[in-house]
Amino acid sequence: MFKKAINQELMRNNNKAQILRCVKAKQVVSKRELTEELGLSTTTVSTFIRELEQENLIQNSGIARSTGGRRSLLYQLNPDYCYTLGLDLKVDRIVGVLLDFKGDIKAENEIPVRDRDEWKVVPLLKTFIHDLLAEYEIPWAQLGGIGIGIPGVLNNEGEIIDFAPNLGWKNVDLPTMLALDKPIYLENEANAGALGEVVFGLGQNVDHLAYISVGMGIGCGLIIDHKLFSGHLRNAGEFGHMTVESEGFPCQCGNKGCWEVYASNSAALRMYTEKTNNKQVTFPEFLRRCRENNDQATEVLQTVTKYLGLGIASVINILNPEMVIIGGEITNVKSLIFNSLLKEIKERTLEKSFAGVRLEFSQLGNKAAALGMGTIVLEKIINALP
Ligand SMILES: [Zn+2]
Repeated sequence: MFKKAINQELMRNNNKAQILRCVKAKQVVSKRELTEELGLSTTTVSTFIRELEQENLIQNSGIARSTGGRRSLLYQLNPDYCYTLGLDLKVDRIVGVLLDFKGDIKAENEIPVRDRDEWKVVPLLKTFIHDLLAEYEIPWAQLGGIGIGIPGVLNNEGEIIDFAPNLGWKNVDLPTMLALDKPIYLENEANAGALGEVVFGLGQNVDHLAYISVGMGIGCGLIIDHKLFSGHLRNAGEFGHMTVESEGFPCQCGNKGCWEVYASNSAALRMYTEKTNNKQVTFPEFLRRCRENNDQATEVLQTVTKYLGLGIASVINILNPEMVIIGGEITNVKSLIFNSLLKEIKERTLEKSFAGVRLEFSQLGNKAAALGMGTIVLEKIINALP
């Protein structure tokens, strides 16, 4: 008897969650569409729609145009049910977006990070979070949770930063250090970027996607069979530490000759400094010189592009993805590198895999990971609903 009651309750909640997810997926939907889509009775749909409305999770959003018969009410998620913050902690900056419950972007911001010491970054993150909420005048109580993309690997539970080589962080319990009375979720920034592309970018309706995040290091987020692939110990996708030169330059990870030491933004800056006898420039400045056809900058960009293509070719040979999306500031010079990148990839991939893959540059600017983190938090909130 007791077991039966539990099963009935589970089934009830399952139907309700299904309806909520369907409203989310379709954005605007009528009761009739919900009935047809989910194979539920009209009474069941009506009962749960009423409950979801009373709980402020969904709201009426007008009347469907009809060619005859009864007009039906349309429903959508209530955008103000709660808000989520998606942040991307990059090596040299913090990027953040504020999403409403429907997943629409309400505010966004970006600030530089000059000191990578974790005790200096924590207060910076706190101020950034409060400023982003203030920009859209969201009270603290309305914030449902915070997601932070990390340029490194997390522990098995995903709660502690095990190792972020380019930040110089080991065993950092960022959620505890932030001490905010809100749920905080962490994810590798390239994984978050891949999710951002699936929900907001070019990766929509792509089942097998490799998102290559090119920053001061290189991360790779993998969507396999439409799901994020994290591996046995959440360490999958660390292609940045794939060896491309057996006796190459040392990497922050302890290995030498890693892909990211030859194809990342920091690799480009190291090569440019060597070539110009110690001229120190920022990466945006380096890109500006590339666009102005500066000889030394162009030579370095060609070398970096060659290595970028070489590594992407390996990713394609290993995973046979449907799409590869390159993200990061390098996308600002895509017209300068696209042809040589494609040529390099073509020469090094199996013909069939090359013919079946689309190479794209992210159109989300540097927001892919922040958007992915906001989406992860929204999913967590929906999953936790009673
Ligand atoms: Zn490495």
